[in-house]
Amino acid sequence: MTTPLLITGQERYADVRDRRLAAMLAEEDAAEELGLNPLERVSCRLHRRWLHHCVHSADHVIKVTGHRWCRDCSSTASVGVNELTGDVLVCCEKCHQIPRGAATQQIVRACRASLAAAQGFFADQTTVVALTS
Ligand SMILES: [Zn+2]
Ligand SMILES: [Zn+2]
Repeated sequence: MTTPLLITGQERYADVRDRRLAAMLAEEDAAEELGLNPLERVSCRLHRRWLHHCVHSADHVIKVTGHRWCRDCSSTASVGVNELTGDVLVCCEKCHQIPRGAATQQIVRACRASLAAAQGFFADQTTVVALTS
């Protein structure tokens, strides 16, 4: 018998064309039930996308925790993602500084992991070779 949990998750995301993303969404949904911090996710339950593809959405601004939020200016911060180099830069839209604190570090960490997962960094070695050569 296969795992019922996994089947349910994958059926929920049957319409997601990127199957690697669909598998990740299902996996992280299940992990969240077991205590995974939703802000550490690399796939977004709300937008059904890789985090680095939808982190630009206003839904990802969390003033209370300081995610994409500059407390000094009470302003939103943008996230720049360079898909080629893997660089992730959080920057206040007003003072153009990097908002201090753990929330910014968490965004950078999660977006980098999201980029790597989307590119199949962990599963497909040929992608990595193609990118670095
Ligand atoms: Zn999202
Ligand atoms: Zn600022």
